[in-house]
Amino acid sequence: MTYSTLRHLGSVIYKRKPIQLTFFLTRKCNSQCPFCFYLSSSPVQGSAELSLGEIEKISRSMGKLLWLAFSGGEIFLRDDLADITRLFYDRNKPSIILFPTNGLLTNVIYEKIETILRYCRKSTIAVKLSIDGTESVHDSLRGKGSFRRTLQTHSRLGTLLGRYGNFELGINTVFCSANQDNMADIIEFVSKMDNINTHTVSLIRGDVPDSTLKDIDITKYHGTIKLLEANLKNGKSGFYRFKGARLKAAQDILQRNLIHETAIQKKQVIPCFAGKLNMVLTESGDVYPCESFSEKLGNVRDSGYNVAKLLNSGNAKKVIRSINKKRCFCTHECYYITNILFNPKRYPMLIKEYLQL
Ligand code: SF4
Repeated sequence: MTYSTLRHLGSVIYKRKPIQLTFFLTRKCNSQCPFCFYLSSSPVQGSAELSLGEIEKISRSMGKLLWLAFSGGEIFLRDDLADITRLFYDRNKPSIILFPTNGLLTNVIYEKIETILRYCRKSTIAVKLSIDGTESVHDSLRGKGSFRRTLQTHSRLGTLLGRYGNFELGINTVFCSANQDNMADIIEFVSKMDNINTHTVSLIRGDVPDSTLKDIDITKYHGTIKLLEANLKNGKSGFYRFKGARLKAAQDILQRNLIHETAIQKKQVIPCFAGKLNMVLTESGDVYPCESFSEKLGNVRDSGYNVAKLLNSGNAKKVIRSINKKRCFCTHECYYITNILFNPKRYPMLIKEYLQL
């Protein structure tokens, strides 16, 4: 039995502490993808990555988590990834832990994930492999040979599904101008892959090294999300295996429609709970409400590694107030998860989608 997501029901009313943490573990990467917003964001000069000891203090200062998402960089380049996961598992008991990866380090990924699965029995462990096109399109974005290496990793990881009921394997595709005409083929390809329980598509975001990739045709994004929705509704695509996965699929459908609306209207179309329910921690200890990286809440090294103290500072409160006033907007999928699931005004639409699955 994994940790129940219902433990967080109180956050529907009281939004007092983060239950979704995105932790950028490293800037190091073995790919240099032209659509990576983290490559373009400015590192803090001379600032070392948080050590295991520092991360332990941070995790101690936080409460129970619904969702812990690692990010980077390539997260499997951190030798201590399994130890970091164990720290959060022991102290914050996340219902879901997400490991996104380019899938290039087959053996390292397999070994670390199996170590994590053996220890973190009560969390859902989800690995998302990146596939951004059929072979030639994917390799043109991520480097020659990378498509086949990611598929090798997919095959190895697939062998863990039968042994660990808390393991989930999915694919993520970044939607950009280079693959917007290849989407139907990618979706068809992924729908035929063995052992893949979910396929998500993330709209390109942030400042990226190749800005031409952001010249997307929003009608093509709309066509893509409608195809994903149809596949979920006609049973061509499946859901994750964890309890509540059908609700998550309904939320995915609603989320993509809201993202499409946000991209067109260029404003917050539903209230954002970033900074209240969501928090982003970077490898050097900076804390942001979200991944727009525009306004920092503080740095854990300056607050004695105490997240509650940091979030109570005058500066953090000021930034969070500006979000409440809808001064910003974005299309980042992760924030729509909490913005939908913890907003009762969204429930009629959520139930409607749920009943169609
Ligand atoms: S709307 Fe987007 S940019 Fe603004 S706080 Fe929420 S997640 Fe961040």
